[in-house]
Amino acid sequence: MYNYAGVIVNNDSIKVDKIFTYKVPEVLKNKIALGQRVKVPFGMGNKNIDGFVVQLYEFIELDSKSINKLKAIIEISDDFQVIREKDIALIGIMRSKYLCTYLECIKVFIPSGITKGMKFKTKNLVVLGSPITDKYKKESYVKIIDFVKENNGTYNKQQLSNELGFSLSSINTLIKHGFLNLEEAVVNRYNDRQYKAYEEKQLNPLQQQAVDTVMKSRNKKFLIHGITGSGKTEIYMNLVKKAMDEGKDSIILIPEISLTPQMVERFKGRFGRDVAIFHSKLSDGERFDEWMRVKMGKVKVAIGARSAIFLPFSNLGLIIMDEEHEGSYKSDSDPKYHARDIADLKSHIEGCKVVLGSATPAVDTYYRTTTGEYTLITLSERADGALLPQIKVVDMREELMNDNKSIFSASLFSGLKQTLENKEQAILFLNRRGFSTFVSCRKCGYVFKCRNCDIALTYHNHASNLTCHYCGAKRELVNTCPRCKSKYVKYFGIGTEQLEDQVKKVFPEAKTLRMDFDTTREKHSYEKIYNSFRNQEYDVLIGTQMVAKGLDFPEVTLVGVIAADLSLNLPDYRANERTFQLITQVSGRAGRGKKPGKVVVQTYSPENFSIKYAMENDYISFYKEEIEIRRNMNYPPFAKILAINLSSEDEKLLIKSIQDLGDKLHLKLDNNDKMEVLGPCPCGISKIKNAYRWQIIIKGDFTLELAEDIKNITYNELSSVYNYIRVSLDVNPNNLL
Ligand code: ADP
Ligand code: ZN
Ligand code: ZN
Repeated sequence: MYNYAGVIVNNDSIKVDKIFTYKVPEVLKNKIALGQRVKVPFGMGNKNIDGFVVQLYEFIELDSKSINKLKAIIEISDDFQVIREKDIALIGIMRSKYLCTYLECIKVFIPSGITKGMKFKTKNLVVLGSPITDKYKKESYVKIIDFVKENNGTYNKQQLSNELGFSLSSINTLIKHGFLNLEEAVVNRYNDRQYKAYEEKQLNPLQQQAVDTVMKSRNKKFLIHGITGSGKTEIYMNLVKKAMDEGKDSIILIPEISLTPQMVERFKGRFGRDVAIFHSKLSDGERFDEWMRVKMGKVKVAIGARSAIFLPFSNLGLIIMDEEHEGSYKSDSDPKYHARDIADLKSHIEGCKVVLGSATPAVDTYYRTTTGEYTLITLSERADGALLPQIKVVDMREELMNDNKSIFSASLFSGLKQTLENKEQAILFLNRRGFSTFVSCRKCGYVFKCRNCDIALTYHNHASNLTCHYCGAKRELVNTCPRCKSKYVKYFGIGTEQLEDQVKKVFPEAKTLRMDFDTTREKHSYEKIYNSFRNQEYDVLIGTQMVAKGLDFPEVTLVGVIAADLSLNLPDYRANERTFQLITQVSGRAGRGKKPGKVVVQTYSPENFSIKYAMENDYISFYKEEIEIRRNMNYPPFAKILAINLSSEDEKLLIKSIQDLGDKLHLKLDNNDKMEVLGPCPCGISKIKNAYRWQIIIKGDFTLELAEDIKNITYNELSSVYNYIRVSLDVNPNNLL
């Protein structure tokens, strides 16, 4: 019998980020359970708010006076536990690990519809009533009755009337006399369209071996390092099927659902209605319904973006993470979790298997196969026997010396020409959108920058203006320099818009299509571009990293990487890794059909090892060189990086606050030889949306306890300026700018 409950209240203030003790009233003692949502009185005014039960006790160690002061739970809100008991432990760990609040963690486990009191959507469907009497047996009535006999409980009144072409009033008459009845039924808000069946394939020996390893190994965690096209999806499906046969549930994570329509198509095509789909683009209602389908045990499989990792399956057996190296698995908002860490923790807590897959594993992950934490499975051949494309690296400095000033090297030009003549398709990859990426004055050096951000503006030809890619602010185009009034305003840096223009100019007969943030803003636009290119309505697809994702275009025989240096020059310790991944992934789009593929990589640094090894399709050599750099520099996986970012419109206050905080952190950590405190200093982008930005970086091998200390120091130091300064704590952030 539980007399007391530990409750986390649904209030965002960091001040109430603790577990409050409440009395369990007599009437609820038989019903109270962990993970339930309850109503509790809270604060001075005893306002009724939502709370979540995370602890239950028979006794507590408190003096009787304090016990008497405890408030009591008012009621239990739902007839099920909204949080699984297993997840309560996970919530505690996440709070320490990601330096955030309990409530922020709870919110990723339940859809917002729960606390908003959302209900299932219901619809009144027409069902048969008492037998129709002779008096009413006229032709139209009989037709309606016969139709409902065939389709009992399938249509509502309006649909029935549309289907049969009879007026609503005839149907109403039949209902009035009890020959038909209306019955309430739950409808799924999620638009569950039909998918083409995706037939099971006979596994090849390598695929079979991979499946056997996962099924038989004593280890629970696996990394499938399989080259692009090696048939990883078929392995995933096989494993999901096996889990289903054992009565276990599976979660399949993909980087971004809208960018991987193919994966959803394949899983839906194989497993049909039994697959829930879960991602951030769902409406609250759709999200609630899909979550409920999982909670009520109606589905055994879910496919989705990173947040799907938190779905409340009751008997989770398998987590699959495709393209595990992708940055989108890391959340940028609190809790700033990485889905791979959560999968690890889940495997530990509930014993499920974790299978990661990638052609270019994160250096972090691959390192863990060398320590034995993950079992490595390697697939080095394409499943359909196709060859990996040949990659040619072009030194753009030589092109210049040969007087070629265009953005196409001689190799890429002749490759494109050949491809178009053969009526095959090409993909051109440039990781920068817009027309020109910065505009400046040749005379005085003035750079057109955003008023709100410390960022050069990008020129967009189609909109004919300068746009900030951080805040969206626009500035009008001018031909004279605002500073020195000269006419030498010039456009530099090529973006996807200009690349498309150039292709059209050089190859007027080519039909081009662009895929970037600007052309995919509308709903379904990505799918439209993907489908029309796949159907060969276009010859050349030009795009940002969106085109590097797991797309399967059998007619693509040429891939051009316009400027491989872009990712290489990023101020980030993962720049080499990103470059290797991008080149390999985008190259993997070529030669997936019967015809062999060719890749041209243009760069100013052909000697860089990530480019060199990408060209040779040699991940292992790349990894070996990169891991040594990480070891020497004490970067992840050998240390963690904690970025403490502060931002404020008030620059003076910001600088003073972060300097005081920096002093405290240096004092705490400088004599700890496992830790390093860097800064404070302004962020790489020192202003965004009028807010100034400074950061402190802490590098080292810190424990959960130390992270907790750092968090407390930070919040204590800032408590008086909390209304003016925003704080972000991020462990191993996606970018350090
Ligand atoms: P990956 O995800 O590893 O890049 P895919 O799963 O997309 O590779 O598979 C690449 C291609 O090989 C697909 O067209 C797929 O249908 C085909 N394929 C996969 N497994 C087999 C198999 N066992 N037999 C024949 N074709 C296969
Ligand atoms: Zn000027
Ligand atoms: Zn801006």
